[in-house]
Amino acid sequence: MKKLLYLSVVALIYILFGIFYYWNPILLVQQDPIIEIGTQFDPYENVLNIVYGDIKDLKIKGKVDTNTPGVYSLTYQYKDRKKTIKVTVTDSKAPILEVKNVKTDLQEHITPELFVKNIKDSSKVTLSFENVPELKKKGKQKLNILAKDIYGNSTTKKVILERLEDKTPPEIKNKKAIQVLQGSMEDFASKIRVKDDLDPNPQLELDTRQVDTFSPGIYSIHVKATDRSNNIVDQDVKVEVKENPEYNKKIVYLTFDDGPSENTIKVLDILKEYDVKATFFVTGHAPSYNDFIKEAFEQGHSIGLHTYSHDYKNIYSSTNAYFNDLDQINSMVESITGQKSDIIRFPGGSSNSISAKYSPGIMSELVKMVNERGYQYFDWNVSSSDAAGNDISKEQIIQSSCTDKFDQINLLFHDSATKNSTVEALPDIIKFYKDRGYKFYPLTKKSYVVHHQTTN
Ligand SMILES: [Zn+2]
Repeated sequence: MKKLLYLSVVALIYILFGIFYYWNPILLVQQDPIIEIGTQFDPYENVLNIVYGDIKDLKIKGKVDTNTPGVYSLTYQYKDRKKTIKVTVTDSKAPILEVKNVKTDLQEHITPELFVKNIKDSSKVTLSFENVPELKKKGKQKLNILAKDIYGNSTTKKVILERLEDKTPPEIKNKKAIQVLQGSMEDFASKIRVKDDLDPNPQLELDTRQVDTFSPGIYSIHVKATDRSNNIVDQDVKVEVKENPEYNKKIVYLTFDDGPSENTIKVLDILKEYDVKATFFVTGHAPSYNDFIKEAFEQGHSIGLHTYSHDYKNIYSSTNAYFNDLDQINSMVESITGQKSDIIRFPGGSSNSISAKYSPGIMSELVKMVNERGYQYFDWNVSSSDAAGNDISKEQIIQSSCTDKFDQINLLFHDSATKNSTVEALPDIIKFYKDRGYKFYPLTKKSYVVHHQTTN
């Protein structure tokens, strides 16, 4: 009797559960989940089971944008049974803030950003000082940096600001004489190493009037460096103009930027016909013509680096971006010729001002950095003007290219599919210089340099 009663109760429970699950077949892990911004949320993973059913027949309506806080509605539908839940995306995490103490002079403009080493949050963070700081005060003071995201989560970190009266002038670190090759056009400011204890960027003024780059010898340039607290160092830096065996020899360095292209082979044929050597500053634009780079190299022409992408917006966005691109083009050149290149031409030349749009001051930094990394960069002192448009006539190019103003000429051409008149003008230009006793050399790191004045 007892056993029968027990079995009936069990059967009844089964029946009740059966009815319940018939009406509510969708079992979820979380009814109304709350998830953190930026994390993953898969609505299917929130399904525990479909009782007497298959998850394949489950439909889900609604979307959760896990990158935007808010309340989202999701409807699970299995046959004619529906279940709607609310998914809340919140940003409840405070920004992760790493700070550093700052020691500076009394001139620097103090902002909360100066104290930040690193900051992380899923949404936008604004920085402020929690207490009202006396930013002009001399000596040490404790400040609280407050980082607050747009959902009101905040982190505070203590920092120390130390303001000193800067009485130490910058130091000029050039120990050895700056060496230049006789006849070179040099941007001396790029060769001055200046350091200040508190101002990362002292102003430089140079007086180079004593230097005669055409005559070998030791000269001085007068350098004046001023930090923002107006401490001044006045110092002479030696310049050694080294004898250039090629000086007075009348040399033309024919240089072709932007290739390879379908025209490279025509240029190579002309150079071969007149038995002259040139330099190609190549890009990664047209890999289908990379065989021409190999051919140029094998015929004794120099291969230089013009950047892989030639994309101003990218290469001049930061010094890192520039060098990443330069490594890329140099790897390409090495894979073609078997040897890395150490000569560079900047897109737009070192005097380009377009780069200022992407990173103010970048050219002044790059001209120093490429030197430090073992490269030499070359600008030009004669332009063929073939980049002034696509319809520059052969006659115009010849006229712009032919001059006897200089004994040593770095002549700028462009190698691209649209520059047919450059190819047509080339034989006459070569004849002009041959008739006047010029030799044609490929550029090497040691060649005579033309450096424009940087403007950014
Ligand atoms: Zn170019």
